[in-house]
Amino acid sequence: MNTPKYKRVVLKLSGEALAGSDGFGISPNIVNAISKQVKEVVELGVEVAVVVGGGNIWRGRLGSEMGMDRAAADYMGMLATVMNSLSLQDSLENIGVATRVQTSIDMRQIAEPYIRRKAIRHLEKGRVVIFAGGTGNPYFSTDTTAALRAAEIEADVILMAKNNVDGVYSADPRIDNTAKKYDELSYLDVIKEGLQVMDSTASSLSMDNDIPLIVFSFAETENNIKRVVLGGKNRNNCKGEINQ
Ligand code: UDP
Repeated sequence: MNTPKYKRVVLKLSGEALAGSDGFGISPNIVNAISKQVKEVVELGVEVAVVVGGGNIWRGRLGSEMGMDRAAADYMGMLATVMNSLSLQDSLENIGVATRVQTSIDMRQIAEPYIRRKAIRHLEKGRVVIFAGGTGNPYFSTDTTAALRAAEIEADVILMAKNNVDGVYSADPRIDNTAKKYDELSYLDVIKEGLQVMDSTASSLSMDNDIPLIVFSFAETENNIKRVVLGGKNRNNCKGEINQ
């Protein structure tokens, strides 16, 4: 059965998801692999909005640790997300997927400004909308952007693709082999236990607006995004569902 569980999704890709094995920069092969997966989901008739991070290029916190003004460093991070978004757009369009990039900071020559109603219209027409530039505000993250945009466009779910981890754990399973994996938990648990799923601003926004989040492994299986969108409990490495 190819009946999608969700009609409209926000896919959150961290910047690292676009990088090669060293975690830095943009790997065209990986971006193309993501695009193929997104295309599969679009072909199911699901409306897909994407929020892309920028950590593969720049993180504001890093800049401020090096003595930069935090806001200036964060604006650089927001610009990094635009570079990633343009690379994803290019790759999607190459395989015939119609897209629009909308930026939270005006960049008229390269993208549309973020206009909620226009974004929804694009989605209804089957275009993938890529939200670039984060929220447009320093001190926020692209996780929060995903939560905010998901609420604004009334998405059914946030799909959070992780690189090296296949769900939500009590600790980093790559470091701590006693880490427990959760199949389902609440945002309150995430906040109370300080789980590093998404930052607390993003978690509380999603909790308040009752938007579920599914954390899944992007890298391991070819069509994981499609599998998540089709629902089903026993999807091997597509676990970690967070609800209100
Ligand atoms: N950023 C910001 N406001 C936002 C979104 C992002 O200031 O609304 C900046 C922040 O400096 C962050 C960087 O952009 O470090 C990259 O975003 P993020 O760390 O969320 O990317 P990811 O971890 O998903 O790659």
